[in-house]
Amino acid sequence: MQARKSFAQMMNKKRYALLIISLLFVSFFIKKEAYSFGFYAHKKINRMAVFCLPPDMINFFKKHIEYLSEHAIDPDKRSRAVPGEDIKHYIDIDHYGENPFDSVPHYWKDAVKKYTEDTLKEYGINPWWINNMLFSLTQAFKDEDLDRILYLASNFGHYIADACTPLHTSQWYDGKSFEQKGIHAFWETRIPELFADTYNYLVGKATYVEKPTEFAWLLVKESHYAVDTIFSMDNHLRSHFPEDKKYVFEEKGNTMSRQFSREYTLEFVKLTHNMVERRMQRAVFAVASLWYTAWVNAGQPDLSRLENKEISKKHKKELKANEKLWKTGKPVGRPNPE
Ligand SMILES: [Zn+2]
Repeated sequence: MQARKSFAQMMNKKRYALLIISLLFVSFFIKKEAYSFGFYAHKKINRMAVFCLPPDMINFFKKHIEYLSEHAIDPDKRSRAVPGEDIKHYIDIDHYGENPFDSVPHYWKDAVKKYTEDTLKEYGINPWWINNMLFSLTQAFKDEDLDRILYLASNFGHYIADACTPLHTSQWYDGKSFEQKGIHAFWETRIPELFADTYNYLVGKATYVEKPTEFAWLLVKESHYAVDTIFSMDNHLRSHFPEDKKYVFEEKGNTMSRQFSREYTLEFVKLTHNMVERRMQRAVFAVASLWYTAWVNAGQPDLSRLENKEISKKHKKELKANEKLWKTGKPVGRPNPE
């Protein structure tokens, strides 16, 4: 009896060890996968925004289209190493009561007066930050500073695109229940990765934004009004879709990970009337329009004067140093703020 007991204990120990090893594997994969959330969509949005620009801007932006697309994801990389970065990517507007769009002041100073800076920072500052970026990009255009124009324009595109993403406007940013966990990545990574190449990006020409503050808040409002649809359609589909057809295992990099199947994803897309495509189109238009607005506010500098200039060595060095910091830095702030 004693021998059998210790054998059983041994087996339990082995099982326990196996369980720990597999959990470590799973968490390693999840971490790796989390690192790429939303990257594809952000790059695509900045790239497509270039084609909406007016003739006076398009040549310069086209010349640097690879840079603008590549650095569209810098704010997400930065948020993994720099404290205070993550709050620029979202606003939990539902924290502010039943009718938040009537009660939260659109201007930073008024909002600070009403809620204190600490509170605002706790629930995210995205629409206010968009205004800040507009100001910085305008200044870079005024200075005709090629490095700053490109770096700020690419980063600015990121924050604008985040405002167009419904789950960046809610404290339930990764679902309202345990079952819904993963909805954030599903919406902004899985769907674009499967279908964004077939989307229509002919969203018209960039237009001058008369009231940028109101525009940033409008983007957030539109996004937030889509949150309930996401949750209710997700609940509906989860309980109605055949269990054995929900998931597939796919190779990502050199790891295998569980993903929602193409059929399941397509059904969600239909139920939400192509919401991801509509919000990405909105983001492309908004990015192009705010880039254009910064240029107009700077006095419409002649960008052909910058056409023969290249990115400086100093800036290239900065970019390299940033990459290094972001790779080695430990995640700070909210998980998956992308
Ligand atoms: Zn982001």
